[in-house]
Amino acid sequence: MNSGMVVILSGPSGAGKGTILELGIELLKKVGLDTALSVSTTTRTQALTEIDGIHYNFTTAEKFRELLRAGHFAEYNIYGADYYGTPRSNIKSAVESGRILFVEIDLNGMRQIKSLYPEAVTIFVMPPSMHLLRERIMSRKRDSDTPEKIKYRISRAAEEIKCADEYDYIIVNDTLSDAVDDFVSIIKAESRKSIRIKNIIKEVLSV
Ligand code: 5GP
Repeated sequence: MNSGMVVILSGPSGAGKGTILELGIELLKKVGLDTALSVSTTTRTQALTEIDGIHYNFTTAEKFRELLRAGHFAEYNIYGADYYGTPRSNIKSAVESGRILFVEIDLNGMRQIKSLYPEAVTIFVMPPSMHLLRERIMSRKRDSDTPEKIKYRISRAAEEIKCADEYDYIIVNDTLSDAVDDFVSIIKAESRKSIRIKNIIKEVLSV
């Protein structure tokens, strides 16, 4: 079995991470790669379009803090007034089962996971311009969004973009199909790295 791979995808909300992931995973599955998506736990309000357990595990701040104290999270962060965290078990099971696990988290989360798993692959999805990003954020407003939350997202976006060079790869999402191609190429190449397919040598020699 191949060793699993943790892929962290960050980028400002509105940069198109979710769409790139969704389309990219479909293509990766077609070429036989075994992928999984990490479901984070959050205390933020569930949007009408979101499903508990699929988009996030929605919980209360009290329960989140309890889980945090119990060491349930590999990383966590406070974004706005809400907690977000990646359960340790998500990463452990993907690594043990040899899958490619996609973790969609922010800069802070990336830094924490990278210190735990230095071999994690990190990708930053960049908008072509702040002007376009502002337009995208305004047009995909969630029902639970207030003007303050939107303002906060725009200022956080600028902060995260400043640190994009901490990531292994930057994908500029100008034309979606090109961005998806870039994403698929990165994952395919990373999954062929010799450290990740050590078993191939034994397999070939044994037949
Ligand atoms: P949103 O509320 O728009 O779904 O997410 C807000 C921000 O939190 C995004 O940048 C998203 O990538 C990030 N995020 C989502 N889940 C996690 C998580 O488990 N940990 C961290 N650190 N950030 C997360």
